[in-house]
Amino acid sequence: MQDVLVIGSGPAGLSLVAALAEVGLAVQGLALDDPTHPWPNTYGIWVDELEDVGLVQFLDHRWKDCLVQVNSGPVPLHREYGLLSKDRLQAHWLTQAEQHRVTWHRGKVVRLEHGPTHTQVTTASGEMLAARLVVDATGHQAALVRRPEAPELSFQSAYGIVGRFSQPPIAPQQMVLMDFRNDYLSPEQRQEPPTFLYAMDLGDGVHFVEETSLAHHPAISMEVLAQRLHQRLRHRGIEVEDIHHVERCLFPMNQPLPDFTQRVVGFGGAASMVHPASGYMVGALLRRGPGLAEAIAAALSSSQTTPAEVASQAWRALWPADRVRKHYLYLFGLENLMAFDAPQLHQFFDTFFNLPTDDWAGFLADNLSLPEVVQAMLGLFGRAPNSVRWGLMRSVFSHGHLLGRTLMS
Ligand SMILES: Cc1cc2nc3c(=O)[nH]c(=O)nc-3n(C[C@H](O)[C@H](O)[C@H](O)COP(=O)(O)OP(=O)(O)OC[C@H]3O[C@@H](n4cnc5c(N)ncnc54)[C@H](O)[C@@H]3O)c2cc1C
Repeated sequence: MQDVLVIGSGPAGLSLVAALAEVGLAVQGLALDDPTHPWPNTYGIWVDELEDVGLVQFLDHRWKDCLVQVNSGPVPLHREYGLLSKDRLQAHWLTQAEQHRVTWHRGKVVRLEHGPTHTQVTTASGEMLAARLVVDATGHQAALVRRPEAPELSFQSAYGIVGRFSQPPIAPQQMVLMDFRNDYLSPEQRQEPPTFLYAMDLGDGVHFVEETSLAHHPAISMEVLAQRLHQRLRHRGIEVEDIHHVERCLFPMNQPLPDFTQRVVGFGGAASMVHPASGYMVGALLRRGPGLAEAIAAALSSSQTTPAEVASQAWRALWPADRVRKHYLYLFGLENLMAFDAPQLHQFFDTFFNLPTDDWAGFLADNLSLPEVVQAMLGLFGRAPNSVRWGLMRSVFSHGHLLGRTLMS
């Protein structure tokens, strides 16, 4: 009998397979595609997040010159950003898995049955796999993990191009985290939900430019984003000369937290691990995966522990009460961001990225304690102009229940 079956071979699935195997568990994986199949997305991450977990060698690009642009001017970030070498990281985790004799199966999971000592999944082709614990890492639209119905999901969406341009869209060796300037839009367009440019100089005359909607319900369409990207570039006198790759990005930002009493454990998008106020998740996978693997190994070390108890201990390790509380605070932050009009949004980000770097970085990485997050948010409130304060206070009335969950979860 295998200890753990991990379903999915995206960043969540592979990182956890490797972490589980490293702690000595017998692991098997189930994936729709060959697990060596290249991941489709481009993953950006702050360099210090990789340094903290000893994986900084898995960067293809690094930028020291990082900034946010708002209508009042640039805000330098004083923090290094990088682009993951997703091929090398994927190969690294697959090699680790192979060294520990992880077996991979191909197929789509269609049925789940819980027995007294194990859980069995059946694939569409009829293959049956059993393990003492099943982990669902099948992404945002989880195949097995149960979550409450979401009344209103907000989505991050983005349309990006990697290619060559008639002139550089940004300064040499620069990374623009968010360019919110909206001078290229008509007065009517400026009344519509704001979007921003995320852009990187990839060297050799190649750039990545992506028009992004941080979060909106319903999702801002690819057509609108593509149209805005071209309009923005044209306004700056830039023509697209050669397209190497087009990225279309769409994922939910505020999925409800899973039901922590279920016997299938989630990881990654399937466990609602996306940071609701930023959309980032890869750093969280790297930080939280090894701890989850250790908790699973500890729970499985006794044959007396029931599968339900193993799952419960795993969920507690992934989503301890303090993290759940912070999650509601980030959800409150998301609601604020979506409620701001364009001038408030510009002032908000100007204030946010002028906080001490440890505060905004810790807020985005979710590695501050709850009192530290509250402190950072109070610091922001204290420094923000009145229009932003007013917007924040208005949200306390409209979304105070999220703050209530922060205090009471
Ligand atoms: C275009 C894009 C860009 C992003 N960029 C960033 C970024 O720069 N930085 C960041 O931190 N986050 C980013 N994100 C957010 C998040 O990190 C990604 O969505 C990430 O890919 C989620 O990882 P995951 O492993 O949970 O899910 P996925 O990457 O979606 O992987 C899911 C896996 O499960 C498999 N699967 C699905 N259904 C089944 C089934 N029924 N049976 C078996 N297998 C199944 C799939 O084949 C796949 O292997 C981005 C998201 C998108 C969409």
